[in-house]
Amino acid sequence: MKVGIPKEIGPGERRVALTPDSVRRIKTAGYDVHVETGAGAGAFIPDAKFQEAGAGIATNTADLWSRSEIVLKIQPPLPNPSLHLHEADLLAEGSTLICMLRPLSHIDTVRMLAKRRVTSFSMDMMPRTTRAQPMDALSSMSTLAGYKAVLIAGDTLPRLFPMLVTAAGTIAPSRVLIVGAGVAGLQAIATARRLGAVVEAYDVRPAVKEEVESLGATFVGPRLEASEAQDEQGYAKPLSAEAQRRGMELLGERIAHADVIITTARVPGMPAPRLISADQVARMKPGSVIVDLAADMGGNCELTQPGETVVRHDVTIHGPVRLASTVPVHATQMYSKNITSFLLHITKDGTLTPDWSDDITKGTCVTRDGQIVHPATRARAEGTLAAAGSPARSPQ
Ligand code: NAD
Repeated sequence: MKVGIPKEIGPGERRVALTPDSVRRIKTAGYDVHVETGAGAGAFIPDAKFQEAGAGIATNTADLWSRSEIVLKIQPPLPNPSLHLHEADLLAEGSTLICMLRPLSHIDTVRMLAKRRVTSFSMDMMPRTTRAQPMDALSSMSTLAGYKAVLIAGDTLPRLFPMLVTAAGTIAPSRVLIVGAGVAGLQAIATARRLGAVVEAYDVRPAVKEEVESLGATFVGPRLEASEAQDEQGYAKPLSAEAQRRGMELLGERIAHADVIITTARVPGMPAPRLISADQVARMKPGSVIVDLAADMGGNCELTQPGETVVRHDVTIHGPVRLASTVPVHATQMYSKNITSFLLHITKDGTLTPDWSDDITKGTCVTRDGQIVHPATRARAEGTLAAAGSPARSPQ
Protein backbone atom coordinates (compact mmCIF):
# COMPACT_ATOMS: atom_id res chain seq x y z
CA MET A 1 0.00 0.00 0.00
CA LYS A 2 1.14 3.55 -0.75
CA VAL A 3 1.74 5.92 2.20
CA GLY A 4 2.04 9.65 1.40
CA ILE A 5 3.67 12.33 3.56
CA PRO A 6 2.64 15.81 2.37
CA LYS A 7 4.44 19.03 3.23
CA GLU A 8 2.53 20.76 6.04
CA ILE A 9 1.02 24.07 4.94
CA GLY A 10 -0.40 25.38 8.26
CA PRO A 11 0.93 28.80 9.38
CA GLY A 12 4.15 28.46 11.38
CA GLU A 13 4.11 24.65 11.04
CA ARG A 14 7.66 23.29 10.84
CA ARG A 15 7.07 19.65 11.72
CA VAL A 16 6.69 16.73 9.32
CA ALA A 17 4.74 13.56 10.10
CA LEU A 18 7.62 11.06 9.63
CA THR A 19 11.38 10.94 10.16
CA PRO A 20 13.61 8.84 7.87
CA ASP A 21 13.94 6.26 10.70
CA SER A 22 10.16 5.85 10.75
CA VAL A 23 10.12 5.56 6.95
CA ARG A 24 12.44 2.54 7.35
CA ARG A 25 10.12 1.01 9.98
CA ILE A 26 7.05 1.47 7.83
CA LYS A 27 8.79 0.08 4.74
CA THR A 28 9.85 -2.99 6.72
CA ALA A 29 6.17 -3.50 7.59
CA GLY A 30 5.44 -3.69 3.86
CA TYR A 31 4.41 -0.14 2.87
CA ASP A 32 5.66 1.97 0.00
CA VAL A 33 6.41 5.54 1.23
CA HIS A 34 6.40 8.79 -0.77
CA VAL A 35 7.34 12.16 0.73
CA GLU A 36 6.55 15.54 -0.82
CA THR A 37 9.70 17.43 -1.75
CA GLY A 38 10.72 19.87 0.99
CA ALA A 39 8.35 18.29 3.53
CA GLY A 40 11.17 17.87 6.07
CA ALA A 41 12.85 21.25 5.49
CA GLY A 42 11.33 22.94 8.56
CA ALA A 43 12.68 20.12 10.75
CA PHE A 44 16.05 20.12 8.93
CA ILE A 45 15.46 16.79 7.16
CA PRO A 46 16.51 17.10 3.49
CA ASP A 47 14.83 15.05 0.73
CA ALA A 48 18.08 13.06 0.39
CA LYS A 49 17.67 11.62 3.92
CA PHE A 50 14.19 10.37 3.07
CA GLN A 51 15.53 8.88 -0.15
CA GLU A 52 18.33 7.11 1.73
CA ALA A 53 15.62 5.59 3.96
CA GLY A 54 13.88 4.25 0.87
CA ALA A 55 11.14 6.84 0.31
CA GLY A 56 10.20 8.21 -3.08
CA ILE A 57 10.20 12.02 -3.42
CA ALA A 58 7.06 13.52 -4.96
CA THR A 59 7.35 16.88 -6.69
CA ASN A 60 3.65 17.27 -7.50
CA THR A 61 1.51 17.98 -4.44
CA ALA A 62 -1.83 16.98 -5.98
CA ASP A 63 -0.37 13.69 -7.29
CA LEU A 64 1.09 12.80 -3.90
CA TRP A 65 -2.31 13.24 -2.23
CA SER A 66 -4.41 11.54 -4.88
CA ARG A 67 -2.08 8.53 -5.36
CA SER A 68 -1.70 7.76 -1.64
CA GLU A 69 -3.88 5.08 -0.10
CA ILE A 70 -2.82 6.33 3.35
CA VAL A 71 -1.88 9.94 4.14
CA LEU A 72 0.05 10.67 7.35
CA LYS A 73 -0.03 14.28 8.51
CA ILE A 74 0.24 16.53 11.52
CA GLN A 75 -2.37 19.26 10.94
CA PRO A 76 -5.95 18.65 9.76
CA PRO A 77 -6.51 19.14 5.99
CA LEU A 78 -6.51 22.85 5.13
CA PRO A 79 -7.30 24.93 2.03
CA ASN A 80 -4.19 24.95 -0.18
CA PRO A 81 -3.97 28.49 -1.60
CA SER A 82 -1.46 27.65 -4.33
CA LEU A 83 -3.68 24.86 -5.70
CA HIS A 84 -6.97 26.70 -4.97
CA LEU A 85 -8.19 23.42 -3.48
CA HIS A 86 -8.89 22.09 -0.01
CA GLU A 87 -6.52 19.30 1.01
CA ALA A 88 -9.56 17.16 1.91
CA ASP A 89 -10.56 17.32 -1.77
CA LEU A 90 -7.10 16.12 -2.81
CA LEU A 91 -7.53 12.83 -0.93
CA ALA A 92 -8.46 9.81 -3.04
CA GLU A 93 -11.98 8.49 -2.41
CA GLY A 94 -11.82 5.61 0.09
CA SER A 95 -8.30 6.46 1.27
CA THR A 96 -7.17 6.70 4.91
CA LEU A 97 -6.02 9.84 6.71
CA ILE A 98 -4.19 9.87 10.06
CA CYS A 99 -3.43 13.27 11.66
CA MET A 100 -4.24 15.55 14.62
CA LEU A 101 -7.67 16.17 13.17
CA ARG A 102 -9.18 17.96 16.21
CA PRO A 103 -12.58 16.98 14.80
CA LEU A 104 -14.70 19.00 17.23
CA SER A 105 -13.06 22.18 15.96
CA HIS A 106 -13.08 21.16 12.28
CA ILE A 107 -16.59 19.92 11.66
CA ASP A 108 -16.73 21.12 8.05
CA THR A 109 -13.51 19.26 7.23
CA VAL A 110 -14.89 16.13 8.92
CA ARG A 111 -18.03 16.39 6.77
CA MET A 112 -15.84 16.65 3.63
CA LEU A 113 -13.90 13.54 4.70
CA ALA A 114 -17.11 11.57 5.28
CA LYS A 115 -18.43 12.67 1.89
CA ARG A 116 -15.26 11.39 0.18
CA ARG A 117 -15.61 8.12 2.13
CA VAL A 118 -12.20 8.72 3.74
CA THR A 119 -11.42 6.64 6.82
CA SER A 120 -9.95 9.21 9.18
CA PHE A 121 -8.18 8.69 12.51
CA SER A 122 -7.46 11.55 14.89
CA MET A 123 -4.24 11.21 16.90
CA ASP A 124 -5.55 13.71 19.46
CA MET A 125 -8.45 11.38 20.28
CA MET A 126 -6.07 8.68 21.54
CA PRO A 127 -7.28 7.06 24.79
CA ARG A 128 -4.95 7.97 27.71
CA THR A 129 -4.26 4.32 28.60
CA THR A 130 -1.01 2.49 29.27
CA ARG A 131 -1.45 0.44 26.08
CA ALA A 132 -1.87 3.61 23.99
CA GLN A 133 1.14 5.40 25.51
CA PRO A 134 3.51 4.89 22.52
CA MET A 135 0.84 6.54 20.31
CA ASP A 136 0.03 9.42 22.70
CA ALA A 137 0.95 12.44 20.58
CA LEU A 138 -0.86 14.83 22.93
CA SER A 139 1.52 13.91 25.75
CA SER A 140 4.52 14.24 23.43
CA MET A 141 3.53 17.74 22.32
CA SER A 142 2.53 18.81 25.87
CA THR A 143 5.97 17.76 27.13
CA LEU A 144 7.63 20.04 24.58
CA ALA A 145 5.23 22.90 25.31
CA GLY A 146 5.87 22.69 29.07
CA TYR A 147 9.63 22.87 28.51
CA LYS A 148 9.45 25.72 25.99
CA ALA A 149 7.07 27.77 28.16
CA VAL A 150 9.74 27.98 30.87
CA LEU A 151 12.36 29.13 28.37
CA ILE A 152 10.00 31.85 27.08
CA ALA A 153 9.37 32.99 30.65
CA GLY A 154 13.10 33.01 31.48
CA ASP A 155 13.86 34.99 28.35
CA THR A 156 11.27 37.68 29.17
CA LEU A 157 11.76 37.90 32.94
CA PRO A 158 13.88 40.89 34.03
CA ARG A 159 15.42 38.70 36.76
CA LEU A 160 17.43 35.46 36.94
CA PHE A 161 15.91 32.09 37.84
CA PRO A 162 18.62 30.69 40.16
CA MET A 163 19.98 31.92 43.45
CA LEU A 164 23.50 33.25 42.91
CA VAL A 165 26.04 34.10 45.58
CA THR A 166 28.50 36.51 43.99
CA ALA A 167 31.06 39.11 45.04
CA ALA A 168 28.42 41.66 44.05
CA GLY A 169 25.95 40.23 46.52
CA THR A 170 23.39 37.45 46.73
CA ILE A 171 20.69 37.16 44.11
CA ALA A 172 17.43 35.63 45.35
CA PRO A 173 15.92 32.89 43.16
CA SER A 174 12.77 33.63 41.16
CA ARG A 175 9.46 32.15 42.24
CA VAL A 176 7.65 30.15 39.57
CA LEU A 177 4.02 29.09 39.97
CA ILE A 178 2.77 26.31 37.70
CA VAL A 179 -1.02 26.13 37.43
CA GLY A 180 -2.18 22.71 36.24
CA ALA A 181 0.21 19.81 36.87
CA GLY A 182 -0.67 17.52 33.96
CA VAL A 183 1.89 16.48 31.34
CA ALA A 184 2.86 20.05 30.31
CA GLY A 185 2.82 21.33 33.89
CA LEU A 186 5.06 18.56 35.21
CA GLN A 187 7.59 19.20 32.45
CA ALA A 188 7.46 22.93 33.23
CA ILE A 189 8.14 22.16 36.92
CA ALA A 190 11.14 19.97 36.04
CA THR A 191 12.56 22.59 33.64
CA ALA A 192 12.10 25.53 36.03
CA ARG A 193 13.70 23.51 38.84
CA ARG A 194 16.69 22.68 36.62
CA LEU A 195 17.12 26.42 36.03
CA GLY A 196 17.22 26.96 39.78
CA ALA A 197 13.85 28.60 40.42
CA VAL A 198 11.76 28.01 43.53
CA VAL A 199 8.68 26.25 42.16
CA GLU A 200 5.13 25.87 43.45
CA ALA A 201 2.39 23.99 41.63
CA TYR A 202 -1.37 24.26 41.88
CA ASP A 203 -3.86 21.69 40.61
CA VAL A 204 -7.32 20.56 41.63
CA ARG A 205 -6.52 16.84 41.28
CA PRO A 206 -5.13 15.54 44.59
CA ALA A 207 -3.39 12.69 42.70
CA VAL A 208 -0.72 15.05 41.36
CA LYS A 209 0.61 16.14 44.80
CA GLU A 210 3.12 13.29 44.96
CA GLU A 211 4.35 13.83 41.39
CA VAL A 212 4.80 17.56 42.05
CA GLU A 213 6.78 16.92 45.22
CA SER A 214 8.94 14.27 43.59
CA LEU A 215 10.10 16.96 41.14
CA GLY A 216 11.19 19.24 43.99
CA ALA A 217 8.24 21.64 43.88
CA THR A 218 5.71 22.52 46.59
CA PHE A 219 2.08 21.52 46.02
CA VAL A 220 -0.31 24.35 46.86
CA GLY A 221 -3.64 22.94 45.61
CA PRO A 222 -6.85 22.64 47.66
CA ARG A 223 -7.50 19.47 49.64
CA LEU A 224 -10.24 17.91 47.55
CA GLU A 225 -11.45 14.32 47.42
CA ALA A 226 -10.39 12.57 44.19
CA SER A 227 -14.06 12.08 43.26
CA GLU A 228 -14.69 15.85 43.54
CA ALA A 229 -11.92 16.77 41.13
CA GLN A 230 -11.34 14.04 38.55
CA ASP A 231 -13.22 11.60 36.34
CA GLU A 232 -12.59 7.85 35.88
CA GLN A 233 -9.95 8.52 33.21
CA GLY A 234 -7.92 10.72 35.57
CA TYR A 235 -8.86 14.02 33.88
CA ALA A 236 -10.01 17.07 35.82
CA LYS A 237 -13.77 17.64 35.83
CA PRO A 238 -15.72 20.85 36.54
CA LEU A 239 -15.68 21.61 40.29
CA SER A 240 -18.60 22.35 42.61
CA ALA A 241 -19.03 26.05 43.46
CA GLU A 242 -17.67 25.49 47.00
CA ALA A 243 -14.59 23.55 45.81
CA GLN A 244 -13.96 26.21 43.20
CA ARG A 245 -14.17 28.99 45.82
CA ARG A 246 -11.69 27.19 48.11
CA GLY A 247 -9.30 26.61 45.23
CA MET A 248 -9.45 30.15 43.93
CA GLU A 249 -8.76 31.58 47.38
CA LEU A 250 -5.60 29.49 47.71
CA LEU A 251 -4.47 30.26 44.19
CA GLY A 252 -5.06 34.00 44.65
CA GLU A 253 -2.54 34.06 47.52
CA ARG A 254 0.13 32.32 45.44
CA ILE A 255 -0.36 34.54 42.36
CA ALA A 256 0.66 37.64 44.32
CA HIS A 257 4.00 36.02 45.27
CA ALA A 258 5.01 34.72 41.84
CA ASP A 259 7.59 36.19 39.46
CA VAL A 260 6.52 33.74 36.74
CA ILE A 261 3.22 31.91 36.28
CA ILE A 262 2.86 29.13 33.73
CA THR A 263 -0.75 28.04 33.31
CA THR A 264 -1.72 24.74 31.69
CA ALA A 265 -5.17 24.04 33.20
CA ARG A 266 -7.70 22.33 30.95
CA VAL A 267 -10.89 20.35 31.35
CA PRO A 268 -11.58 18.11 28.34
CA GLY A 269 -14.58 19.22 26.30
CA MET A 270 -14.79 22.62 28.01
CA PRO A 271 -13.23 26.06 27.54
CA ALA A 272 -10.15 26.54 29.75
CA PRO A 273 -11.03 27.45 33.36
CA ARG A 274 -10.51 31.16 34.06
CA LEU A 275 -8.11 31.19 37.01
CA ILE A 276 -6.30 34.56 36.91
CA SER A 277 -8.37 37.73 36.77
CA ALA A 278 -7.32 41.12 35.40
CA ASP A 279 -7.34 42.47 38.99
CA GLN A 280 -4.93 39.75 40.11
CA VAL A 281 -2.60 40.59 37.21
CA ALA A 282 -2.70 44.24 38.30
CA ARG A 283 -1.56 43.16 41.80
CA MET A 284 1.41 41.08 40.53
CA LYS A 285 4.96 42.40 40.89
CA PRO A 286 5.96 44.73 38.03
CA GLY A 287 8.06 42.81 35.50
CA SER A 288 6.37 39.47 36.22
CA VAL A 289 5.62 37.07 33.38
CA ILE A 290 2.66 34.80 32.60
CA VAL A 291 2.85 32.09 29.94
CA ASP A 292 -0.67 30.81 29.26
CA LEU A 293 -0.51 27.38 27.62
CA ALA A 294 -4.31 27.19 27.59
CA ALA A 295 -4.48 30.23 25.26
CA ASP A 296 -5.89 28.13 22.41
CA MET A 297 -8.84 27.15 24.64
CA GLY A 298 -9.66 30.69 25.73
CA GLY A 299 -6.84 31.04 28.26
CA ASN A 300 -6.51 30.58 32.03
CA CYS A 301 -5.81 34.31 32.41
CA GLU A 302 -8.46 36.91 31.65
CA LEU A 303 -5.96 39.13 29.80
CA THR A 304 -4.43 36.45 27.53
CA GLN A 305 -4.57 37.10 23.79
CA PRO A 306 -4.19 33.78 21.90
CA GLY A 307 -1.09 33.78 19.69
CA GLU A 308 0.11 37.12 21.06
CA THR A 309 2.28 38.64 23.75
CA VAL A 310 0.79 41.62 25.57
CA VAL A 311 1.97 43.77 28.47
CA ARG A 312 -0.73 44.72 30.99
CA HIS A 313 -0.08 46.44 34.33
CA ASP A 314 3.69 45.90 33.78
CA VAL A 315 3.14 42.13 33.47
CA THR A 316 4.08 40.36 30.23
CA ILE A 317 1.44 37.82 29.20
CA HIS A 318 2.32 35.28 26.51
CA GLY A 319 -0.46 33.29 24.81
CA PRO A 320 1.51 30.86 22.61
CA VAL A 321 -0.54 28.51 20.43
CA ARG A 322 2.07 26.58 18.43
CA LEU A 323 4.90 25.81 20.82
CA ALA A 324 5.70 22.29 19.62
CA SER A 325 6.47 23.68 16.19
CA THR A 326 9.15 25.92 17.71
CA VAL A 327 11.15 22.75 18.52
CA PRO A 328 10.52 21.04 15.18
CA VAL A 329 13.38 18.53 15.36
CA HIS A 330 12.29 16.80 18.55
CA ALA A 331 8.58 17.45 17.93
CA THR A 332 8.93 15.63 14.60
CA GLN A 333 10.92 12.80 16.19
CA MET A 334 8.28 12.25 18.89
CA TYR A 335 5.23 12.65 16.65
CA SER A 336 6.77 10.35 14.07
CA LYS A 337 7.21 7.60 16.70
CA ASN A 338 3.61 8.11 17.86
CA ILE A 339 2.00 8.00 14.41
CA THR A 340 4.19 5.09 13.26
CA SER A 341 3.17 3.06 16.33
CA PHE A 342 -0.46 3.81 15.51
CA LEU A 343 -0.11 2.86 11.83
CA LEU A 344 1.55 -0.41 12.81
CA HIS A 345 -1.19 -0.96 15.40
CA ILE A 346 -3.78 -1.06 12.60
CA THR A 347 -1.56 -3.00 10.17
CA LYS A 348 -1.28 -6.73 9.56
CA ASP A 349 0.86 -8.38 6.85
CA GLY A 350 1.63 -5.08 5.13
CA THR A 351 -1.98 -3.92 4.78
CA LEU A 352 -4.35 -1.82 6.78
CA THR A 353 -6.52 -4.14 8.86
CA PRO A 354 -8.19 -2.11 11.63
CA ASP A 355 -9.82 -4.19 14.35
CA TRP A 356 -12.98 -2.19 15.01
CA SER A 357 -13.50 -3.81 18.40
CA ASP A 358 -10.16 -2.44 19.67
CA ASP A 359 -10.56 0.63 21.95
CA ILE A 360 -7.60 2.50 20.42
CA THR A 361 -8.73 1.96 16.82
CA LYS A 362 -12.39 2.65 17.56
CA GLY A 363 -11.67 5.61 19.86
CA THR A 364 -9.57 7.47 17.29
CA CYS A 365 -11.70 6.80 14.18
CA VAL A 366 -13.68 9.88 13.14
CA THR A 367 -15.11 8.99 9.70
CA ARG A 368 -15.67 5.62 8.06
CA ASP A 369 -17.87 4.26 5.23
CA GLY A 370 -19.17 7.77 4.49
CA GLN A 371 -20.32 8.34 8.10
CA ILE A 372 -19.07 10.37 11.05
CA VAL A 373 -18.58 7.57 13.57
CA HIS A 374 -16.92 9.42 16.47
CA PRO A 375 -19.86 9.98 18.88
CA ALA A 376 -19.01 13.51 20.15
CA THR A 377 -18.11 14.68 16.65
CA ARG A 378 -21.32 13.25 15.23
CA ALA A 379 -23.29 15.01 17.98
CA ARG A 380 -21.53 18.28 17.17
CA ALA A 381 -22.20 17.82 13.44
CA GLU A 382 -25.87 17.17 14.17
CA GLY A 383 -25.98 20.22 16.43
CA THR A 384 -26.81 18.25 19.58
CA LEU A 385 -23.46 18.99 21.29
CA ALA A 386 -23.15 22.67 22.24
CA ALA A 387 -20.13 24.50 20.84
CA ALA A 388 -18.77 25.69 24.23
CA GLY A 389 -15.86 27.87 23.10
CA SER A 390 -13.34 25.69 21.36
CA PRO A 391 -13.80 22.36 23.11
CA ALA A 392 -11.36 20.18 21.20
CA ARG A 393 -7.96 19.80 22.78
CA SER A 394 -5.49 21.60 20.69
CA PRO A 395 -2.09 19.97 20.85
CA GLN A 396 0.62 22.58 21.24
P1 NAD B 1 -4.92 18.35 30.66
O1 NAD B 1 -4.07 19.01 29.63
O2 NAD B 1 -6.30 17.94 30.32
O3 NAD B 1 -5.00 19.34 31.93
C1 NAD B 1 -3.84 19.91 32.49
C2 NAD B 1 -3.97 20.00 33.97
O4 NAD B 1 -4.91 21.01 34.32
C3 NAD B 1 -4.47 18.72 34.65
O5 NAD B 1 -3.53 18.28 35.57
C4 NAD B 1 -5.77 19.16 35.31
O6 NAD B 1 -6.02 18.50 36.55
C5 NAD B 1 -5.52 20.63 35.53
N1 NAD B 1 -6.72 21.43 35.78
C6 NAD B 1 -7.94 21.35 35.21
N2 NAD B 1 -8.80 22.26 35.75
C7 NAD B 1 -8.10 22.93 36.69
C8 NAD B 1 -8.41 23.99 37.58
N3 NAD B 1 -9.62 24.54 37.63
N4 NAD B 1 -7.45 24.44 38.40
C9 NAD B 1 -6.20 23.89 38.37
N5 NAD B 1 -5.84 22.89 37.54
C10 NAD B 1 -6.78 22.41 36.72
O7 NAD B 1 -4.16 17.12 31.31
P2 NAD B 1 -3.11 16.12 30.66
O8 NAD B 1 -1.76 16.71 30.83
O9 NAD B 1 -3.51 15.77 29.28
O10 NAD B 1 -3.25 14.87 31.62
C11 NAD B 1 -4.45 14.58 32.30
C12 NAD B 1 -4.37 13.24 33.00
O11 NAD B 1 -4.17 12.19 32.11
C13 NAD B 1 -3.26 13.13 34.02
O12 NAD B 1 -3.75 12.39 35.10
C14 NAD B 1 -2.23 12.34 33.36
O13 NAD B 1 -1.40 11.66 34.28
C15 NAD B 1 -3.10 11.39 32.59
N6 NAD B 1 -2.37 10.85 31.45
C16 NAD B 1 -2.30 9.49 31.34
C17 NAD B 1 -1.60 8.96 30.28
C18 NAD B 1 -1.51 7.48 30.10
O14 NAD B 1 -1.70 6.74 31.03
N7 NAD B 1 -1.20 7.05 28.91
C19 NAD B 1 -1.02 9.76 29.33
C20 NAD B 1 -1.13 11.15 29.49
C21 NAD B 1 -1.82 11.68 30.56
